[in-house]
Amino acid sequence: MTSDRQFETDVIKTSAGGLEITFLGHGTLMMSFAEMTIHVDPYGRVADYSKLPKADIVLITHEHGDHLDLDALAQVRTGETVMVLTEACSRQIEGGLVMRNGDVQSVKGIVIEALPAYNVVHKRASGEPYHPKGAGNGYVMTFDDKRVYVAGDTENISEMARLHDIDVAFLPMNLPYTMTPEMVADAAKVIRPKVLYPYHFGATDTQELVDLLGDQDDIEVRVRSMA
Ligand code: ZN
Ligand code: ZN
Repeated sequence: MTSDRQFETDVIKTSAGGLEITFLGHGTLMMSFAEMTIHVDPYGRVADYSKLPKADIVLITHEHGDHLDLDALAQVRTGETVMVLTEACSRQIEGGLVMRNGDVQSVKGIVIEALPAYNVVHKRASGEPYHPKGAGNGYVMTFDDKRVYVAGDTENISEMARLHDIDVAFLPMNLPYTMTPEMVADAAKVIRPKVLYPYHFGATDTQELVDLLGDQDDIEVRVRSMA
């Protein structure tokens, strides 16, 4: 969690060159593609954003403090940055592009689809889901011929069955707020990404997920430093 930490990166090949994904930690990713930088849920606890590239696009999945961090945003935002937001986030940020579940937008040449992200099973003591339906977004981004799904804080919801041609999926496993390894495995069997990264997994044992998907030869589970 220091600014000098060397972050892991993977490169996903697309027909228009490499999509580089940097694993900043927690629910936070940085992507670079075609000379653009995309920050997903930038969060100052995992990285020193004054040392990272400015954002061409920022995607925020929902308004919880570890996903919507106004100080981190201030460090990556320029006058040219497109901020993709949920409605609740837009109450705290001026000038963003609000996407609701189901919306599709082309942003700087990247097609972005907003998907629902919510809890069905895991709820607060009050009975309120940690993530109520309609409030948060997951996003599918199309980078030329590759489609990347960042699920946000969600469970394995029925809408995932409508996803298609997902090359890379990021599914959360932070308990009790999102999915158990079993739920992530079930989601993966529905989505069938070629590469699955568990992310935002906190203290949840990633090996459980690896074992659960051990017989799914067409899904490669990659564990990176995303606690
Ligand atoms: Zn959350
Ligand atoms: Zn979260």
